[in-house]
Amino acid sequence: MMKKIYVVGMVILAMAIALTGCGGEKKAEKPAEVKKVLKVGLNPDFAPFEFVDKDGKITGFDVDLIQAIGKQMGMEVNIQNMSFDGLVPALKTGNLDVAISGMTITEERKKSISFSDPYYQSGLVVLVNKDNSSITGINDLKGKKIAAQIGSTGSMAAHKVEGAKVTDLNNTPETYLELKKGSVDGVVNDLPAVQYFLKTDEGKNFKIVGNVLEAENLGIGINPSNKELVTNINKALAELKKNGEYDKLYEKWFGSKPVSK
Ligand code: GLN
Repeated sequence: MMKKIYVVGMVILAMAIALTGCGGEKKAEKPAEVKKVLKVGLNPDFAPFEFVDKDGKITGFDVDLIQAIGKQMGMEVNIQNMSFDGLVPALKTGNLDVAISGMTITEERKKSISFSDPYYQSGLVVLVNKDNSSITGINDLKGKKIAAQIGSTGSMAAHKVEGAKVTDLNNTPETYLELKKGSVDGVVNDLPAVQYFLKTDEGKNFKIVGNVLEAENLGIGINPSNKELVTNINKALAELKKNGEYDKLYEKWFGSKPVSK
């Protein structure tokens, strides 16, 4: 009897040692996987690229795209809500790894930050109140009042209009508000953002006039001292374009297949 208890005891002890050993070995072999964090900045006032939904969640095409890119690269995406004109400075100082915020690839910005390959073809348009019949395009805004989002290419184009008085506002929704109030005659902004706005209830009071002013490519802004990240993001983006994921996201947010990628 004593012998039996002894044997059982030994077996339990042996099992306990074996188990502990196993646990220890496992840990040594495979350390808990800590994913690298990708610090992403955006200004969520630019639907459908990035905006805050009714549940207070930041969502949009750019958000889905950067999540998919992060997944491709095996990185965890950490999104920071920032002002649009704060994005380039934050990339320059390395406070951000990337900025995805409907940002146009411009020569000026390329002097201080890096960009990914283009991920969307955009362009600038003029928006006016629906009942306005005197402004039919950018040339009719000469000497008039224009609102634009500060630091945007729309603002840059507005400042080039002869004699125009430009009000630079913090975000796109504020420019629409000024237009509605009648304190400005027109707004210059990106076509896809304006098109999306026109389909909302608020947007019913406005219309686009004239042609697309300038064709622009949107790109992901990247910390200029991280060249490896440019390569990795471009690789991930190319893969998503190839495997159909990009098309899926494009259709989800723009309602049609991309014309060109
Ligand atoms: N595409 C424009 C730019 O880069 C506007 C972007 C924005 O307002 N989020 O300036």
